[in-house]
Amino acid sequence: MQSGIHPTMYEAKVICGCGNVFTTGSTKQELRVDVCSKCHPFFTGRQRDISAGGRIEKFNKRYAK
Ligand SMILES: [Zn+2]
Repeated sequence: MQSGIHPTMYEAKVICGCGNVFTTGSTKQELRVDVCSKCHPFFTGRQRDISAGGRIEKFNKRYAK
């Protein structure tokens, strides 16, 4: 990797809507996300009630039939 052409990478603190906090490499020091690997249905394999947003709820209502 060439030096000097990449922005500074931080060990970013990621705060999820479910309350989970983890770290990842990022150019920002703090990130906020709606879903993470702990609460995303794709990873958990089951539906979770995500209070923030409610986008999944809307999606389920739309495709309930
Ligand atoms: Zn989460």
